[in-house]
Amino acid sequence: MKLTLSETAEMLTRARRIVITAHENPEGDAIGSSLGLMHVLRGMGKEAVVLLDDDIPAIFKVLPGYDVIGKPAEGQETVPADLLVILDTAPDRIGRVPDVTDVQAVLNIDHHRTNSGVAAYTYVDDTRAATAEIIFDLVKELGVPFSREAAMCIYTGLATDSGFFRFSNTTPHTMRAAAEMLECGVTANEISEALEQKPYQVVKDTAEAVNMAERFADGHAIGIFLDQATTARMESTEGFIGAIRVVEGVDVAVVLKAKEERLCRVSMRSKGVDVSEIALSFGGGGHIRAAGCTLAMPFAEAKQAICSAIEQAIRALPVKRPTGKAEEDA
Ligand code: 5GP
Ligand code: MN
Repeated sequence: MKLTLSETAEMLTRARRIVITAHENPEGDAIGSSLGLMHVLRGMGKEAVVLLDDDIPAIFKVLPGYDVIGKPAEGQETVPADLLVILDTAPDRIGRVPDVTDVQAVLNIDHHRTNSGVAAYTYVDDTRAATAEIIFDLVKELGVPFSREAAMCIYTGLATDSGFFRFSNTTPHTMRAAAEMLECGVTANEISEALEQKPYQVVKDTAEAVNMAERFADGHAIGIFLDQATTARMESTEGFIGAIRVVEGVDVAVVLKAKEERLCRVSMRSKGVDVSEIALSFGGGGHIRAAGCTLAMPFAEAKQAICSAIEQAIRALPVKRPTGKAEEDA
């Protein structure tokens, strides 16, 4: 059932014990919106915990509450709660969290246009740059103050999902929300400096990966394709796509990594093509300009499949005519 913002706020108000979770492979928005909501609910006198079924990258230690994030463990006691809140994903990418929780109701809050809406209660706003921006809206609706702790976490979600306020999803509302977080005591540089830290080896790996980049679709697309052996020896592929999307003339950037014999992960970024449609066609999802999917295919086959889908999408784009030409034709 689709909820309005005020119905969503009401559900949170009614619940006393709340478990918060987000997608596997969590990044700034998943972690920031989860911890942000946790701080807000605790400030309202509720019992709120964050459970994420993955390891949390150490760069997020800058966020208050990093140390209390739980991870479902084998044979652990189930956590009883009134409400399970799933953030920044539909309920399909939260790992073992449903197995270790015993909840009365499930509330899904997300900003992905591809959200399947299968949760019992869903609030999706795809005009928001980050799920953290929806948490900001909810706090306003609830009429409670932002602590500095909550603000640090919400700011991190806003900043990371909007590429530090540079991507096309950045709106005046995003920046107003960020400004208000700064007024609540957020130190922007503390967050950006912590998040841009990389181990030496990751920087070396990025150089190697960038060296492997291949252009296709007449230079309108670029990709890094990592076979299983290469993927296995690389510590992190975070940042690879950002390094190649800047190439002149490129609309779509893709990183494909083979994780198993017949399992490849794909990340895409674009300037014009709707990559969420491409991701959806392979069972994934995301946003118009940033999306991903998992292909149950061997490396070579997956590479071929994703490249031809991208080429086809680029070919289907309306041709940009040089200025003046369109007038001639008219
Ligand atoms: P990334 O390339 O950073 O992993 O993901 C880009 C965007 O697409 C993110 O908003 C992410 O949540 C979404 N996304 C990535 N992979 C998947 C997937 O397999 N399924 C769905 N539904 N969304 C995905
Ligand atoms: Mn997000």
